[in-house]
This record gives sequence, structure tokens and C-alpha cells, in this order.
Amino acid sequence: MGDIGTAARLLAAAHFSADRHRDQRRKGARGTPYINHPLEVAERIVRVGGIGDLDVLVAAILHDTIEDTETTADEIEDQFGSIVVALVLEVTDDKSLTSSERKRLEIEHAPHLTPGAKLIKLADKISNVADTESNPPASWSRQRRRDYLDFAEQIALGCRGINDALDAEFERVLAQARDRIG
Ligand code: ZN
Repeated sequence: MGDIGTAARLLAAAHFSADRHRDQRRKGARGTPYINHPLEVAERIVRVGGIGDLDVLVAAILHDTIEDTETTADEIEDQFGSIVVALVLEVTDDKSLTSSERKRLEIEHAPHLTPGAKLIKLADKISNVADTESNPPASWSRQRRRDYLDFAEQIALGCRGINDALDAEFERVLAQARDRIG
């Protein structure tokens, strides 16, 4: 028997995140349900990174709820605790800024994140790079896809050095995307 508290906490996070993202789809042309993305990010951290830190995995599942839904930091803190909400806030961009300003700050802040937040950020970029390769938004030109890969690489550089397997996975997915996109 596994630890029932661990299973309950992970499933509570998955349920909460699925509920909050229920009306959202990924930007890709296939319109994948949004919840696939945070679940993939968490799965990659545990499966590729070999990381079993429950706060990091719960925060990974919840990582886009404050940024992209009406969810507040207080709700996350009440339901999932102060460590989880701190991690989620570390990877939450300020949506009141312009997209280019947000990107600039994301690059600037990446090296200063805590180790757990770096793992989430890196796995998030692996997921986004893979989608940029295989399921990009229909309106994105080849150049826009290339620009996204360059941006993601900058973020990944700032998050390097915490987990060798995830660093290598980013390199692999990035190289494959560059190869296919051309
Ligand atoms: Zn994300």
C-alpha cells in the first residue's frame, strides 16, 4: 500500500486544477484541454527528474491557476499550504504587464528562483517547447516558433543545475524541436 496522504494530496491538486482550468484549452491548433499541461509538467518532474517532493509536485499541478484563472493565493494557501503557494507565486507572471515585458522579467528572474520553482519552470518550458514543435497555435509562423524556442532556452539556462536529467531532457526536446521546425 502506498501512502494514502500522498495520494490524496496529489489527487486533490489534480481535481482543483482541472476544475479551475475547466473552460480553457491549450493554444495549440488541436485545442487540447488545458489540464493536460500542468499534469504533464508534474509527471515529467517525477518521471524524468526522479523528484518525489510532494510540495513541488502539487505546486507543478497548480502552477498556472493563479496566472490563468480566478484562483487566489489565499485559496491555494488554505487548501495546499504555505510552501505550495510560495512555489506557485514564484512561477506566476504579472498579467498586467505587456507580453514582452513579462518575457523580459521571466528571463531576468529565472536564475533567482528557489530550486523547487526552477524545476517547475524548467518542466513547464519542456512542455511548451514540445508543443511548439508538435502542436503550435495555427497562427504562429515558423519565425514565431523559432523565437519561442530561443526564449525558452534563455529561461532554461537560468534554471539549470538543479536536476541533470531534466536539464538533459530540455536539451533533447529543444534540439528535436529546432530540427523539425528548421
Ligand atoms: Zn505552464
